[in-house]
Amino acid sequence: MTGEHEEIPFGRPWITDADKAAVARVMESPILAHGPEGRGFEDAFTRYTGGGHSVALSSCTAALHLSYMQAGIGPGDEVLVPAQTHVATAHAVELVGAKPIFVDCDAQTGNVTAKALDEAITSKTRALSLVHFLGLPCDMPAIMGVATENDLMVVEDCALALGARVDGVHVGLWGDTGCFSFYPVKHITTGDGGMLISKHEEVAAAVGRLRAFQVDRNYDERALPGMYDVPGLGLNYRMSEMQAALGTSQLQRMEENLARRAENHARLRAGLEKIPGVRVLHDDDPKKVDSHYALSMVIDDAQDGFRDAVVRKLNQKGIGTSIYYPHPVPRMAYYRNKYGYDASAYPGAECVSDCGIALPVGVHVGLADMDRIVMAATASMEEARAEVPA
Ligand SMILES: *Cc1c(COP(=O)(O)O)cnc(C)c1O
Repeated sequence: MTGEHEEIPFGRPWITDADKAAVARVMESPILAHGPEGRGFEDAFTRYTGGGHSVALSSCTAALHLSYMQAGIGPGDEVLVPAQTHVATAHAVELVGAKPIFVDCDAQTGNVTAKALDEAITSKTRALSLVHFLGLPCDMPAIMGVATENDLMVVEDCALALGARVDGVHVGLWGDTGCFSFYPVKHITTGDGGMLISKHEEVAAAVGRLRAFQVDRNYDERALPGMYDVPGLGLNYRMSEMQAALGTSQLQRMEENLARRAENHARLRAGLEKIPGVRVLHDDDPKKVDSHYALSMVIDDAQDGFRDAVVRKLNQKGIGTSIYYPHPVPRMAYYRNKYGYDASAYPGAECVSDCGIALPVGVHVGLADMDRIVMAATASMEEARAEVPA
């Protein structure tokens, strides 16, 4: 929790003495890459999610990229991609030469719906990807129904959703792959880093080979030191031993991590929903466990510039904010220039991008901070109205 007059940052990694000791222990060992710490983190991750197979990687982007690479998806194929997500979700599709087909989100949750995905399927569609927006799980039973009916691979971008479950099943274990990020402000961090999980043993094994040049043997499997062969192309997308040790240590605190986020989120949401003109992205389906990465307050029906004015007022009052995400992906220059952009196709994503303000609920903030944010938001809305009539 921060002091009364201190700035409340949007995000701050939670690093304890135990985390530092875990990293320092690895530094005493001669093995700094692809060793026991990496395998230990993968095992701990599998225990935490409750099933499947885990492969530690250098980032979530690597996990997304390898999801398509291992499936042989490429030129001529289409992949459905949420319009409202991090650009990495789409870049992974472009990186294998396939074409992303953007699907709008529901403006109440930020998530794609089974219906919108179903309507975007063509004869070229090979896979669908989705993002559990700000930790709120998508409607996985319905989406898996659409995927099964159309024989499509499912890639879940779980970068903001560690700890999120639907019907008790952790996100990432519904689809064919689940991709997690350990970038500093995500639920847990390894500096940079990621994890791919899969309920299919052969998918995890293929990703395990692709992350290390596709060499056919690890150093501990080689009859002669340094001797291996390479049956195919691969990358170096490995996680270091220092990172894996940090990840394992961080994972021990997930229960507290999620509990504090849930408590902060509930307090902040209740306060913000009392402000006229403000709503909060949510989905109260009791079958879904939200991992509360951040809270998005949405100011609908505002004039151009109103949201930005509120952001500036909040920042002046010491409240750290972010925008998830700054543009619908198809509006970002690379995609706009390549495929053109029709705003009318993405009203939900435009609304979440252009009228939303992401606020912190992580373990670095507490209930008193939530009350400060509500007061600051109330005042900021009024001040912005005086400047930019809503
Ligand atoms: C942060 C993020 C990513 C990228 O994760 P990296 O580990 O930095 O590659 C991908 N998707 C979503 C939804 C994210 O928020």
